[in-house]
Amino acid sequence: MRVGILALQGAFIEHEKIIQNLGAEVVEIRQLKDLDGIDGLILPGGESTVQGKLLRQLNLLKPIQQLINEGLPVLATCAGLILLAKTIDGEESAHLGTLPIVIKRNAYGRQLASFTSDIDIKPVGSYPAVFIRAPYIESVNDDVDILGVVNDHIVAVQYHNQLGFSFHPELTNDPRIHEYFLSLIKNNHHN
Ligand code: GLN
Repeated sequence: MRVGILALQGAFIEHEKIIQNLGAEVVEIRQLKDLDGIDGLILPGGESTVQGKLLRQLNLLKPIQQLINEGLPVLATCAGLILLAKTIDGEESAHLGTLPIVIKRNAYGRQLASFTSDIDIKPVGSYPAVFIRAPYIESVNDDVDILGVVNDHIVAVQYHNQLGFSFHPELTNDPRIHEYFLSLIKNNHHN
């Protein structure tokens, strides 16, 4: 099983270690040909404006968008989730825009810029979630599955092949979210 990890900016190394520990192969995605033959894709946290700009400059935006729309399993965390969102509150355009949600960037304000909270994530149970200048999801389309909520704000969703978390599952020693992602890839293969 080969998992592509977008490696333009941000916290991609941490995702790599977890995926490797779980026994899957990792490919760092920096150019078009890196996308060949991947079974899943991780969009890491970082700075979504920088990542979006680089995706456009490197002509990766449309090809990745197409792969996701064709059903490639994708795990997006924090800035990665902002890249997936169809609508970014207060901004005119989206990036990949494949996930029908409205997202608000830096949504917790200054005092709560970073915090950890044990939250219930539907497919895995109680999970120690690390939030860093995190976005939250303001609203979702009816067919989006809500996987986790903190203080009345949606922080985890699944929409078919797309998994999105506004926190950082790669910064804890708990691999259950990545395991769940790998199980989606396996099920995708059987279809
Ligand atoms: N604040 C960042 C953004 O808006 C996301 C923060 C993160 O990925 N930790 O892109």
